Amino acid sequence: MRALSGNRGAPLRPRFPGPGSVTVRVPAKVNLHLSVGDVRKDGYHELVTVYQAVSLYDEVTVEAADRLSVSVVGDGAGEVPLDDENLAARAVVAAAAVVGREPHLKVSIRKGIPVAGGMAGGSADAAAALVAADSLWGSSLDRTTLEGLAAGLGSDVAFLLAGGTALGTGRGEVISPVLAVGDYHWVLALADFGLSTPAVYAEYDRLRAAAPAPATAESPAPDGVLAALRAGDVVALSMALANDLQPAALSLRPQLARVLDAGRELGAVGGVVSGSGPTVALLARSSAESVRIASALAGLGVCRTVRRATGPVTGARVVTGESAPA
Ligand code: C5P
Repeated sequence: MRALSGNRGAPLRPRFPGPGSVTVRVPAKVNLHLSVGDVRKDGYHELVTVYQAVSLYDEVTVEAADRLSVSVVGDGAGEVPLDDENLAARAVVAAAAVVGREPHLKVSIRKGIPVAGGMAGGSADAAAALVAADSLWGSSLDRTTLEGLAAGLGSDVAFLLAGGTALGTGRGEVISPVLAVGDYHWVLALADFGLSTPAVYAEYDRLRAAAPAPATAESPAPDGVLAALRAGDVVALSMALANDLQPAALSLRPQLARVLDAGRELGAVGGVVSGSGPTVALLARSSAESVRIASALAGLGVCRTVRRATGPVTGARVVTGESAPA
């Protein structure tokens, strides 16, 4: 692991980007369906998942510099690595190699997506850094090249380039868009702890090995989720939400069950652990209902904080010169 020069002490809002810098805004994701298959030779699990991009955002600003550096501000910034493990830094290095340049950029990240929350915050920053570096350098990388770079960086990165609602296969990085009618209103319960994605997959493997044979049968296809999205039917979608990683996340952090129960009691039409957790995504019947559920849930003290978001939203996009909402 190589140290980059980094800092976490910058002001909460990045300064307004000037000429010579590019800012990209990138959303978080929830998994509406996630079924886990066998472990592959490369150690990853085969996945069938349905992603939806939701309106919690990180902003990544890149500027030309004499070396690569990363700084992070915002919620959970202290948990984000600033060395060459940082996914945005790795994205810049990978893009620079393809373009044939030095990866000498100052990368400033403003976190709005929970860190280690199961909402792909690190992958989002990688997707944003790819788009930002490409834009700053004027390299106009084509979609296929960007997607290839994204796939090499993490399983969720390719999805966050595109956003919207999409089917993910392979280890999650093979993306095809799906038809989704309407807007979906989410209440997101953020935990006061993180969950490591590899640890959750390891717990999934442990539970699967310990379970009797019928329980290890193949996970259902996402047909119910896809049909509900095509129809724009929030109740059908809520009934079809499914995540094979949820039992593993609950096994590691049993208190998440209280959040799911509280969401149902407060009138959420559905609820699911987002990806590898620990964020719990509750689906509300309407925008007004999401406001009511969010404020009631915040009062119960079963989670660290509550956010509202809508989906689907678009993926990583350049917003230089605009002031992006929190
Ligand atoms: O690709 P990403 O960096 O998001 O994956 C983080 C970790 O999650 C991997 O190192 C692996 O342990 C686990 N993982 C997996 N199968 C997947 C995706 C992730 O086992 N399809």
